[in-house]
Amino acid sequence: MDTTNFEARLLHAPYAKPDAYHALAMPVYQSVAFEFETAEAMEEAFCGRSQDHFYSRITNPTVHYFEDRVRLVTQALSVTALNSGMAAISNTLMTVAYAGSNIVTSPHLFGNTYSFLKGTLAAFGVEARFCDLTNPEEVRAKVDDHTCAIFLEVITNPQLEIADLNALAAIGQAAGVPLIADTTVVPFSSFDAKRFGVNIEVVSSTKYISGGATTVGGLILDYGTFDWSRSKVLKAWYGQYGQTAFTTRLRREIHRNMGAYMTPQVAYMQSLGLETLQLRFERYASTALALAKRLQTLEGIVSVNYTGLEENPYYAISRAQFGAYPGAMLTFDLPSREACFRLINNLKMIRRATNLFDNKSLIIHPASTIYGTFGDKQRREMDIKEETIRLSVGLEPADDLFDDIKQALSD
Ligand SMILES: *Cc1c(COP(=O)(O)O)cnc(C)c1O
Repeated sequence: MDTTNFEARLLHAPYAKPDAYHALAMPVYQSVAFEFETAEAMEEAFCGRSQDHFYSRITNPTVHYFEDRVRLVTQALSVTALNSGMAAISNTLMTVAYAGSNIVTSPHLFGNTYSFLKGTLAAFGVEARFCDLTNPEEVRAKVDDHTCAIFLEVITNPQLEIADLNALAAIGQAAGVPLIADTTVVPFSSFDAKRFGVNIEVVSSTKYISGGATTVGGLILDYGTFDWSRSKVLKAWYGQYGQTAFTTRLRREIHRNMGAYMTPQVAYMQSLGLETLQLRFERYASTALALAKRLQTLEGIVSVNYTGLEENPYYAISRAQFGAYPGAMLTFDLPSREACFRLINNLKMIRRATNLFDNKSLIIHPASTIYGTFGDKQRREMDIKEETIRLSVGLEPADDLFDDIKQALSD
């Protein structure tokens, strides 16, 4: 089909096989197992020589359709859907890491990713090397022969820090290390990670993609751009599978053994969300920019952090990598933790909840919640401040959001 726009390609992605009843919406194949005509056909499927589904921990037609839609619009070599963003991150890193290896990253990470790297992986002999990813010299100094990945979030949460992806990709390329990016804050409909040298993209599809925050899910996109003969753990796979070494190990070994595949009901909901992804994103993000500008004028707000504001220190790199709308998350600082709690308690419309990129705007005080069980020292290392409030901007008009915050400040 000759449709080149994101939405058109997305809406008209064909099924792998014609539907028996010509259903326009991909049915939910709510079945654990799939039946075969012959023992020979079973052997073909189990040994990976045919694409037939046999067990829904491994593949499922509804989930496969969701993966295929994402693959068609992103031009990724392969897409794997898992049952959370954390499953996408952990499965990805388990595919490239080995005892004695290290991952070069920043302490500015989503709470569970930080804990996965610092606690879970450390127990298996994988070292997290934290550094300032906005400083290429520092990154280059941290990378060595046992570095199995440079990992980052493209806009960190809640600090809103942006590293230069091209610079990190060049360091990775020179050292034979893949660049793995969590792009949850800016969707692939708006940001082309491959163009900036990202080799593997991980996404929490719980956020923008699910559409109205209906389901938890995650995606791994392999762009097929990394030379896996340079990876200690994937070299043997490269010998047999070439460019698809990462995806083959992920799909044949890691994700089967970890058991976190997306379920068909979730894939159905998220396929629906995907259809309106770019429409909703443009609305969330343009409201976020308008609101960020207006919040700066409010007395009582010490500072507003959104990388789409011209005075933001990351504005130039943000513009180069993400265009005019760098996501729908912003933060603002008040004079104290008490002022933050007071504002949050006074809100009449904005919802007090974690999560990001729901259709409803959501507010949270990160230091006392997401990072509430972290020690003071760890929070300082991660630049989590007591004075910061995080806002995820939804579909409400900017005027309504502004009015709600204004009345909550003055109460
Ligand atoms: C939410 C989030 C995750 C984790 O995703 P889940 O779907 O909740 O497992 C990872 N990274 C970022 C940046 C997130 O916002």
